[in-house]
Amino acid sequence: MNTFIEFQDVSFSYHTVSGETPALHHINFSVNRNDFVAIVGPSGCGKSTLLSMLCGLIRPEYGSIKIDGIPLSGKDLTSIGYMLQKDQLFEWRTIEKNILLGLEIQKKQNPESLAYAQTLLKTYGLSDFRNAKPSELSGGMRQRAALIRTLVLKPELLLLDEPFSALDYQTRLNTANDIGNIIKKEHKTAILVTHDISEAVSLGSQVVVLTRRPATVKRVIPVQFPSGLTPLERRNTPEFKTYFNLIWKELTEHA
Ligand code: ADP
Ligand code: MG
Repeated sequence: MNTFIEFQDVSFSYHTVSGETPALHHINFSVNRNDFVAIVGPSGCGKSTLLSMLCGLIRPEYGSIKIDGIPLSGKDLTSIGYMLQKDQLFEWRTIEKNILLGLEIQKKQNPESLAYAQTLLKTYGLSDFRNAKPSELSGGMRQRAALIRTLVLKPELLLLDEPFSALDYQTRLNTANDIGNIIKKEHKTAILVTHDISEAVSLGSQVVVLTRRPATVKRVIPVQFPSGLTPLERRNTPEFKTYFNLIWKELTEHA
């Protein structure tokens, strides 16, 4: 197997003036290229902490993270894209200018990257909104714009930290569906952190179930659906309910 990212026995505690907060406890799991790994766990268990480690903001106190077999401190990931709960679009820039922001900052604006940005805008239905301000777009479209802004930079890995949790229920289903389809179509490796079991099952190729803080890996569940199903279509299958119940049981056991 072509293992891309490997968490090996990773532990971490936050140290503050008020004391020590153990966040991660001997975490093991791996991610292959083109995987969509969904990490589920209760609020405050340490999910965002895992993502902070991948982008090198904090280092494991114990254990290691390997990228293509090389410890993270030696080989940093060349590019990581983020999608967060807030889309972080700038209101004083048009959608197009927001999408080009990363290229501008990284001085990567060239005919090829600009053309790619236009292709993404067109493919994912935002061409007509290129001159609009973020406030003129719906919440779901804004998240799509945020994803395109990230994809323009051709990241090796996408980290999604509860990206749909600020949206109302119906928008959340549709946006998750859109984003899942885009990530699949662009052949990206993604790690999604969520406390929403349905979201994890509808999007993931693998679900990592974490316990309460300090997070340990309760179980890793490979998720298989008939190929070609969209995240929304997955929700209407009998397998969906089976996975949901399985994960629910893992999360609530001994909780
Ligand atoms: P999750 O994303 O699963 O909700 P986090 O990874 O954000 O959880 O946080 C895990 C635990 O670590 C929480 O109890 C949180 O309060 C604590 N924590 C997070 N960041 C810090 C920090 N910078 N300093 C101290 N404690 C923190
Ligand atoms: Mg979090």
